Amino acid sequence: MTIVRYAPSPTGRLHLGNARPALLNWLFALQTGGTYVLRLDDTDTARSTEAFARGIETDLAWLGIAPALKVRQSDRTALYDAARDRLIASGRLYPAYETEEELEIKRGRARLLGRPPVYDRAALSLTGEQRQALEAGGRKPHWRFRLDGRPVHFDDLIKGPQTVNTASMSDPVLIREDGSYLYTLPSVVDDIDLEITHVIRGEDHVSNTGTQIEIFEALDGAVPRFGHHNLLTGAEGEGLSKRLGSLSLSDLRTEGFEPLAVATVAVLTGTSLSVEPYPDLRAIADRLDFSMISHGPARFDPAELESLNARILHAMPFEAARPRLEPLGLAEERAWGVLRGNLTRFSDVAPWAAIIAGSIDHRPADEDRDFLDLARELLPPEPWDETTWSAWTNALKEKSGRKGRALFHPLRLALTGREDGPELRSLLPLLGRRVCLARLS
Ligand code: GLU
Repeated sequence: MTIVRYAPSPTGRLHLGNARPALLNWLFALQTGGTYVLRLDDTDTARSTEAFARGIETDLAWLGIAPALKVRQSDRTALYDAARDRLIASGRLYPAYETEEELEIKRGRARLLGRPPVYDRAALSLTGEQRQALEAGGRKPHWRFRLDGRPVHFDDLIKGPQTVNTASMSDPVLIREDGSYLYTLPSVVDDIDLEITHVIRGEDHVSNTGTQIEIFEALDGAVPRFGHHNLLTGAEGEGLSKRLGSLSLSDLRTEGFEPLAVATVAVLTGTSLSVEPYPDLRAIADRLDFSMISHGPARFDPAELESLNARILHAMPFEAARPRLEPLGLAEERAWGVLRGNLTRFSDVAPWAAIIAGSIDHRPADEDRDFLDLARELLPPEPWDETTWSAWTNALKEKSGRKGRALFHPLRLALTGREDGPELRSLLPLLGRRVCLARLS
């Protein structure tokens, strides 16, 4: 039984880069019949908000992710306190009193001596009296985890065998001066308590994993399998700053992107599977394997999202579109068949619904008046089909002497009020003779 978790902090809105771990965990849960836990990492009470927490849930639901369980770290402090006490008792968590300025001086000195700026563990050799004196003077401790200094090995699900050398790292601060927890310890405590079997997250967490494996062991917890995925970047490998990439998921939703297009791009960019339309997330889960995730950066190309969105719409079956067409008064399979090939966003349907089923606002140019009168006279009787258009325009071409753009463009404008759109051959039967006669007048 696999149990995975997605653990965002509700301190902002989710963007495309956040969708990647959210979805990789979800796809893995789908593949393995596992359980997906949403864990809100809200120990930073100053920056976490209820609105961001709700936004995350809305975004995940939009993407098609349905967590089986939701927990919040702010509800679980008692568990962290118990772990804290155990680590203090076993000598792995120790109080340190240096101020940020003092630490900066130490780092500066280390740099001058050509040493790595690693914390010197001076606090470990404080006597009880020295600690009391510091506290009597108003200093409050922060708490550091004493690293083992052994290389930590783990077999990454995505990157293969990894070694993190904790000897070259500073003992991490787990608890701030005000007693609040940084992310590192609560995450391990929750992973143990919720029996998480696989931790799938960004490769910016690899060195955290070294530290956290030591904490799992210090708490006698089962160490989960880890998988660190490449991060989405802009085209040049820079952070996601380009137009669509930096947009939040809610902005992408407002822009009218299909959730499946966003999900597919978020998850398949930087893998050996091509970014193309899939019927649903399960179909992606059936194909995607951790070994397909590349070890280099995952370069996001906004044009790819645009074009995938269009391709998904072009292939969308009528039954899938129907619930969204009904409110537009256009729930007709024939109309969907004609329109879908022209869409880049679903919202593009609305103006065409008005053109087909409503009215248009267009006055023909004076120089086309006679031509359009002739067009009206030559309009064939119904029933109409896809051949009606060429029968009509061939006759019109002969009688008017017009051809090419001069022949077709005034007809398109008169019938649709638009410069471009779906093929008139297909559109004509949807409009019907009565509407065409009126618009040509
Ligand atoms: N809240 C952490 C983050 O957003 C979670 C990382 C993890 O998956 O452990 O980076």
